[in-house]
Amino acid sequence: MTKSQEAIDLEDKHGAHNYHPLPVVLSKGEGVFLWDVEGKKYYDFLSAYSAVNQGHCHPRILETIKEQASTLTLTSRAFYNDVLGPFEKYMTEYFGFDKVLAMNTGAEAVETAIKIARKWAYEKNGIMENSGKIIVAEQNFHGRTTTVISFSSDDTAKKNFGPFTPGFIKVPYNDTEALKNALEGEDNIVGFLVEPIQGEAGVYRPDNDYMRKCQELCKEHNVLFMADEIQTGIARTGSLLAVCGDCTCQGHCEKQSSYVEPDILILGKALSGGFYPVSAVLANDHIMEVITPGTHGSTFGGNPLGARVAVTALDVIKDENLAQNARKLGELFRERLNKFIETTDLVKLVRGKGLLNAIVINDSEDSSTAWDLCVALKENGLLAKPTHGNIIRFAPPLVMTEEQLHDCCDIIEKTIAEF
Ligand code: PLP
Repeated sequence: MTKSQEAIDLEDKHGAHNYHPLPVVLSKGEGVFLWDVEGKKYYDFLSAYSAVNQGHCHPRILETIKEQASTLTLTSRAFYNDVLGPFEKYMTEYFGFDKVLAMNTGAEAVETAIKIARKWAYEKNGIMENSGKIIVAEQNFHGRTTTVISFSSDDTAKKNFGPFTPGFIKVPYNDTEALKNALEGEDNIVGFLVEPIQGEAGVYRPDNDYMRKCQELCKEHNVLFMADEIQTGIARTGSLLAVCGDCTCQGHCEKQSSYVEPDILILGKALSGGFYPVSAVLANDHIMEVITPGTHGSTFGGNPLGARVAVTALDVIKDENLAQNARKLGELFRERLNKFIETTDLVKLVRGKGLLNAIVINDSEDSSTAWDLCVALKENGLLAKPTHGNIIRFAPPLVMTEEQLHDCCDIIEKTIAEF
């Protein structure tokens, strides 16, 4: 039996079957590359769902984690530590907010944002306690906890996990009229929670002015505009945040005209470059001050190891100009693939922003074509995964070079042409 098969069988026998991985068993990563247990080398075209924007095992982040792991890893928030404060200062300056609240996973950060928003509505915005409603978008993906799946549109994610948390209203994505109607027609609205590009749903990119219009509507109705940038943030879409629009600067800047400032910003994934789970919620004082001792917490949230790793991971984004690289390579990628798909019936379209892209396969959503194509891509040395049915997401680490990107496009085009 091959080493790969052994590992697959072990997972199959002893692990819960909550994923359906592509049949490849990885044992090493470096930059844009991954190796399987048999030593075969692949381009990573998923980046652990955009958590490894800085590339695998980035040497600077590695150095930081080693250093901090041998100094102090966890104190809990029962005591102060000498890393959390500097991390909080760095984060708030980097993203331009008064305060940050550190958590661990993305779903936890979303839960945290929901808690903050509701508490703010009751304590500061005159909404009757326990009656607040949050508007969300259809086809959203914000994580897997019971509250978060309560407002999912995905039946598989929800079935037999009820009863669910009430207080959420769904409106179609990229439809400001629907948002306006919900804001005007419903009582007790607390806020609107939205992904600037819907990643899991299949990289749905809304109209360019969607975020701005949503923010304006939220402001007009005095409710909170909450951006979930767990997947789109940290340079993935060619700017520091997807809400930065077309701004190419590497950090928070007051001047940028395209920036649509959320009231609550939610980050995760690449905040640690894939080394360690770190997520965060950012907001200004008038919102964050509803969080007081005892109202929220996490044993690991804000621990010294994660805090140090996050600072270096964000330094790398800036120092290596990864937002600019993502923007440039994303344009190249879509230009090449858009030309290529004119020569094939297999791919309907290419869409995305920066290095968060997807192709839509010309087949029904329940066909196995996208999966089979990903298996063929794997055989040819590139790892990607379908998101939903007939959509394949392409999201390589942002440290990719132009030459490597062309190499990847060669693999994708050859695989599709021969499929
Ligand atoms: N929000 C968005 C937009 C995501 O893409 C994800 C993960 O894919 C999450 C939340 C959940 O993050 P986590 O898996 O770390 O809980």
